[in-house]
Amino acid sequence: MNQPAHHPWKLPAALAAGIVMGALAGWSVHGHIATGVAVVALIEVAFLLTRIRHETRPMMAQPADVSPLQHDRFMTRTRRIASSLRDLRNAASHLPDAVVLLDQEQQVRWFNHAAESLLGLRRPRDRGVFLQQRFAHSDLSGWLQDGAQEPLNDISAPGEPDSQINVSMLPFGRRQHLLLARDISHLNRLEQIRRDFVANVSHELRTPLTVIHGYLELLDPEDVPELAPVLGEMRSQSKRMGQIVEDLLTLSRLETQHQVADERVPMASLLATVRKEAEALSQGRHQITLESTAEADLLGSPKDLHSALSNLVSNAVRYTPAGGSITIRWKRTPEGAAYSVTDTGFGIPASHLARLTERFYRISSSRSRDSGGTGLGLSIVKHVLNLHQAQLRIESTPGAGSTFTCLFGSARLLPPGGNDES
Ligand code: ADP
Repeated sequence: MNQPAHHPWKLPAALAAGIVMGALAGWSVHGHIATGVAVVALIEVAFLLTRIRHETRPMMAQPADVSPLQHDRFMTRTRRIASSLRDLRNAASHLPDAVVLLDQEQQVRWFNHAAESLLGLRRPRDRGVFLQQRFAHSDLSGWLQDGAQEPLNDISAPGEPDSQINVSMLPFGRRQHLLLARDISHLNRLEQIRRDFVANVSHELRTPLTVIHGYLELLDPEDVPELAPVLGEMRSQSKRMGQIVEDLLTLSRLETQHQVADERVPMASLLATVRKEAEALSQGRHQITLESTAEADLLGSPKDLHSALSNLVSNAVRYTPAGGSITIRWKRTPEGAAYSVTDTGFGIPASHLARLTERFYRISSSRSRDSGGTGLGLSIVKHVLNLHQAQLRIESTPGAGSTFTCLFGSARLLPPGGNDES
């Protein structure tokens, strides 16, 4: 009988290739190489188990038919598969991310070392336990109950309450699931260091800048006419730096804040103020219209909402050529209310829209600088809206204009009235 060619390197090579593909897939989807490796490793473990079962079945069923040669081959193969299986299990056990394999009933079938430390699972106690039951008193409980569809970010680790983790659930095999948890404490610490650094630098720059600005104001260009253009430039640049520092301090404050004071924000007066500011900035170069039909006040921080809403109007004025028009609207929507600013300005190419709210992201640095921008306005808008559970929607047609809309939920609306001071 012709035996198929025997290539002992084929299986390990295929398994290794699978791991590499898993790493690449993990990297390309979320940048999570370890996650990709874990998923493929577990799939390969399942494959090897199935193969062992498949290959042992005929041997067990028909021992009389097996020749000594076949038996030797079978034993060598089994040993090789068993060794690959051990290696894969070992690799998965030592992954830095917690991996928990769940069966169809959401019962724990297997978990690695990181799952013991991060999630507090224990062997053998937690083998076969229902995950929902095991985490009944942790932040994971509600998430599991809701079906764990989306990843859950930045929660305290059940096994190490001082650590923060991101958790996700991946479907796997036949209605099985993999729970993956990643320790993000070090990332949070780095993020905190970055925030503190920016806040401290901005704070330290504030006083020297105020002094420089003060002295520049004292110098009268008429006393030194030959230096008049230089003085003018120095004044405008020191003013710009002052504005950047103030915007950075505002952003630092907003980033560390988790909620806002629930104060009434009277929209009639806020809209009137925003419109006046737009007119002052435009100096008659644009036609500015206000349409307010929502008949609702907002609940939140008056100072932060003023800053966000007026930022959008100031952008509309700065990025709309003279002769253009700007419309400020405050109207009801099915979900709540929308504040929008529409301009007939330069517009924004679609490729830039997704990145506009990043710090210092500009389509044209020179246009932003010339119009007195700091590149931080829309970041501030986004943070303020997040704190008010509101969303920013940007629609734009290059050469025709843009509409920036802030969508507020009905929980943030109040019937108009009460104190009318903004
Ligand atoms: P800046 O201080 O530069 O205006 P922002 O964060 O407010 O910073 O805005 C980021 C960038 O988005 C701007 O540099 C500009 O290129 C673009 N932008 C913002 N608003 C508008 C608008 N209404 N029309 C066209 N471009 C805009």
